[in-house]
Amino acid sequence: MTTATTTNADLFARAQAAIPGGVNSPVRAFRSVGGTPRFLVSARGPYVTDAEGREYVDLVAGWGPAILGHAHPEVIAAVQDAAARGLSFGASTPVETELAELIEQRVAPVEKLRLVSTGTEATMSAIRLARGFTGRDLLVKFAGHYHGHSDGLLAEAGSGLATFALPGSAGVPAAVAALTLVVPYNDLDALRAVFAEHGDRIAAVITEAAAANMGVVPPLPGFNRALVELAHAHGALVISDEVLTGFRVSKAGWWGLESAAGADARATSAPSAPGEWAHSTPNGRSDAGGEHVDTAYTPDLVTFGKVVGGGMPVAALGGRAEIMERLAPLGPVYQAGTLSGNPVAVTAGVTTLRLADDAVYARLDEVSETISQAVSSALSAEGVPHAVQYAGNLFSFLFGESVSSGARDYAGVLAQESWRYAPFFHAMLDAGVSLPPSVFEAWFVTAAHDDEAVSRILGALPAAARAAAS
Ligand code: PLP
Repeated sequence: MTTATTTNADLFARAQAAIPGGVNSPVRAFRSVGGTPRFLVSARGPYVTDAEGREYVDLVAGWGPAILGHAHPEVIAAVQDAAARGLSFGASTPVETELAELIEQRVAPVEKLRLVSTGTEATMSAIRLARGFTGRDLLVKFAGHYHGHSDGLLAEAGSGLATFALPGSAGVPAAVAALTLVVPYNDLDALRAVFAEHGDRIAAVITEAAAANMGVVPPLPGFNRALVELAHAHGALVISDEVLTGFRVSKAGWWGLESAAGADARATSAPSAPGEWAHSTPNGRSDAGGEHVDTAYTPDLVTFGKVVGGGMPVAALGGRAEIMERLAPLGPVYQAGTLSGNPVAVTAGVTTLRLADDAVYARLDEVSETISQAVSSALSAEGVPHAVQYAGNLFSFLFGESVSSGARDYAGVLAQESWRYAPFFHAMLDAGVSLPPSVFEAWFVTAAHDDEAVSRILGALPAAARAAAS
């Protein structure tokens, strides 16, 4: 069968007969926006092409990895070269150490690193390690944060689950779910209360370094720092989940942004420069003249995914050597994987990280600013109340008057008029722009979004804003 002459609708019907819901990950089914998912057959730079031969400017970027744009020639060449030398060895390869060293050089809290294949595996293994290290069972997570689909992490987990309004998942034993305590995000008092009650049983707090799976909700200034202090005061570890933010929002991920801002605060007490990460308000933007808080923090474990694989299945957990060395074969915490450190996948990651220089991050920031501000202006022009939420170059929108000054937690995000997104989304899609198919997802730009791609997006906005207004 050739896909070039087949419609998306035909392909979806056929997929639904063979695959549950026709998809291998629920958000791809377009349930929250309705309509027919596009079956993609190729991608290059800022564009994706569907089976009907239609090209879209892409603001999904493979859900994050494609910071350089799709199919960057140097990444593809490196991957082809690696593939020609063998797809999988099940033995150590030099390139795995190269990737570990690269990450350790950039993210200081990561002294040792282990590679796995998905973000879910990374967080799952980090939690087992935290439990093994502390000898404790309880885990604290924040409502609306997503850390993958392992048992015990699906409680109030944002994005796909927010979309389907499910509280968790069938099939998770109650006894496992009972080990997870869910706390509102950005609420230190609630966290203190949980520690006051269960402190000596809590192994770890897991947190998205900046939340981006309920839409974007950045941590309030100093929140990450305060939560590390609180956890440590009770002998618990902090797992900072940078699967989404890592190497996307800066060369050192979210940790790098907050550490740099923290260092600035300690050195000068000056507000951060415009354009770099700064926020004194819940929407992730700095308040000119606002009090500058020391935000630097040191998590015990950090998880990565997405960008570290450059679009191939690579993820990682890393952290303090003393903790990481509890992993097998050195320690008693078992963790393994047939495809862990796969040479072709790791080559994609190493090549992507090496190519992501300062100019790439500057372009990501610039494109993010241009597009987010243009969307905001178009919505304002049509009288659609909204807020833009930022975490570095990640952004998303909240619709409705009641949320127009931003949201700082899951309850705040859920209060929006989410129904406005589906018509907006479809107007953009009809005009050749592919957005995340849920209002509870971040928008992802790439450094390959050139002026032509950006102007196509801007051209589609007035009609989409009108659709959101009606
Ligand atoms: N953690 C975060 C913060 C994520 O955004 C995701 C995926 O979106 C995961 C973990 C799970 O990663 P994966 O989908 O690779 O299992």
